[in-house]
Amino acid sequence: MFPNLSKVNILRKKYVIVKRRLSIASTIFILLFLLFLTGCISKNKSIGLQPYNNFNSSILDTIKVALERSYPYKVNILPDRPLPKNAFVNIKSPRYRADSLLIDLNKHKPDSLNITLGITSSDISTTKKDIWGNIKSPVNKYTDWGIFGLGYRPGTACVVSTFRLNNSNNTLFINRLKKVAVHEIGHNLGLKHCKTVGCVMQDAAETIKTIDSVSLNLCPLCKKKAGL
Ligand SMILES: [Zn+2]
Ligand SMILES: [Zn+2]
Repeated sequence: MFPNLSKVNILRKKYVIVKRRLSIASTIFILLFLLFLTGCISKNKSIGLQPYNNFNSSILDTIKVALERSYPYKVNILPDRPLPKNAFVNIKSPRYRADSLLIDLNKHKPDSLNITLGITSSDISTTKKDIWGNIKSPVNKYTDWGIFGLGYRPGTACVVSTFRLNNSNNTLFINRLKKVAVHEIGHNLGLKHCKTVGCVMQDAAETIKTIDSVSLNLCPLCKKKAGL
């Protein structure tokens, strides 16, 4: 007796369909699982806010909320510490070298944190260099140049100062501070300055006007580059 060929063919066809459906289902499941895992990993990342010299605690809370809105990371406020004496200079005026503060932040960074953001009301500075690595001209202006913030790109430390952001309009002052904090964390995540109008990663170009003109958000391209 020969088996009924048409029945065998039907069974074979059914088997192929079921197999195909199972492989589609398992691919979807794996993709969803990877998506879930990525979400978990980014939520497990955390930023430490390091206040220096009895920094205002309510402003710290505001920055914490702003960072948690901008990034899918948990933000912890660390115990206040005095500014390190080795960062102090008095070249043109009393300032703390931002580069030295970044080293200090990395030195004290708990292993549980991915990034630490130092925050101070004192003036901070750096040496501005040209593309060849020489101090920008005029040298006496750029050797110790006052800045809003500085962050490694990429890296695990950044620092912001309220000194040059102050304004009698408190809302304007707080918005500026939020933007500089989000900007410096962006550098830590590997983001370069962005040319998209309104993106928080735009270069401040030595003027507070740029900070006032940008939004608090990363543009879609910067978000993509930062893996957000
Ligand atoms: Zn920048
Ligand atoms: Zn951008």
